[in-house]
Amino acid sequence: MTEKQVVFSGQVTLPAVGQGTWYMGEKPHHRRAEVNALRAGIDLGLTLIDTAEMYAEGTAEEVVGEALAGRRDKAFLVSKVYPWNAGGQKAITACEGSLRRLNTDYLDLYLLHWSGSYSFEETVEAMEKLIAQGKIRRWGVSNLDDDAMQKLWQVAGGKQCATNQVLYHLASRGIEYDLLPWCQQRQMPVMAYSPLAQAGRLRSGLLNNPVVNDIAHAHSASAAQILLAWVISHQGVMAIPKAASVEHVQQNAAALNITLSASELAALDNAYPAPKGKTALDMV
Ligand code: NDP
Repeated sequence: MTEKQVVFSGQVTLPAVGQGTWYMGEKPHHRRAEVNALRAGIDLGLTLIDTAEMYAEGTAEEVVGEALAGRRDKAFLVSKVYPWNAGGQKAITACEGSLRRLNTDYLDLYLLHWSGSYSFEETVEAMEKLIAQGKIRRWGVSNLDDDAMQKLWQVAGGKQCATNQVLYHLASRGIEYDLLPWCQQRQMPVMAYSPLAQAGRLRSGLLNNPVVNDIAHAHSASAAQILLAWVISHQGVMAIPKAASVEHVQQNAAALNITLSASELAALDNAYPAPKGKTALDMV
């Protein structure tokens, strides 16, 4: 069994499953379980933690900060800036706010959450300033389609972009037509968000699909684990499932060691075909 990995900026090798945090920090009585789940994940090697100033309006970052107390050095910490904060002094202030809530002095990766009012030039300039100030180690983007990535590539400094975080799961495969190969050619990892289709909420029936479940049965695994194994079977793709229970985190970590056979991949292709043409980037 070989654990899948991705490499950021040619420097940092990480397991191809990390931990998402959207919806964490929304309910105070869930906080203890969320902190415990994140800590269990780090102990199991799911060291990339993805958060954002948006999630619970900053409270998700506080939950992550609590989980990382005493173990910051073990984590690869990712946060995101709102598009309307992604330039000039606003970007510096937004990043400082994230650092304060996360109780740390640097982010490993800072992402433009989606593109908005600031130009790519302004955002790249702000990201470079944050790197120079030691507040972030590298930067990337989220929710940019193939055309937008090509525009970013034309901007001075744009090629320093370390990742594109986009929606990707078995029932939403549009990126395979253009964006994913584009990133693969540039050794840029793609971070797959909502890899479980939000436990099937984005695509009803996904977790109950008989093909997925037959494969799960063959691996003595759950349907969710097969969805993760499928996402990370793609070169340079990491999955960032959000899990608020230790049991889910343990399952998600174990998915790193599930290798789908060629015939299983073909059966999944048949159930959820790859795109035959360009499609608009899926988002939530
Ligand atoms: P996911 O596809 O990760 O689904 C999360 C749901 O799956 C939760 O209900 C969770 O339950 C459940 N779950 C987790 N593990 C298992 C398991 N092993 N078996 C069964 N159910 C499981 O959806 P998200 O939308 O949360 O995406 C993941 C992360 O990606 C986000 O948390 C966020 O960090 C990031 N994201 C980024 C976006 C962007 O615009 N850049 C947009 C959306 C997400 P429970 O919580 O009870 O464990």
